[in-house]
Amino acid sequence: MKHIAFKCCECGVINVYESYRGDGNSCMRCGGTLNPIGDCVVHCNSKNVLVYKISIDTTDIDRALKKINCLNDRMNEAVIRMGILNG
Ligand SMILES: [Zn+2]
Repeated sequence: MKHIAFKCCECGVINVYESYRGDGNSCMRCGGTLNPIGDCVVHCNSKNVLVYKISIDTTDIDRALKKINCLNDRMNEAVIRMGILNG
């Protein structure tokens, strides 16, 4: 993939676009007009690593688990009592 570097006329920041998008681009920082500087090489890490951070509200699940544990304890107590009654 070829890339072209542009310098922003407004803020001076260098913007790099893929060469097939050579026209009609504006500065990604300020939206200013871009002046092409020339071809450039973009360094890519050999390992393309995507990191996703997912946070989930587990409040409802925690409540449900507590209820299940409570039910489980009561069932165990009931089974023990039935064993005592039958024994
Ligand atoms: Zn700019």
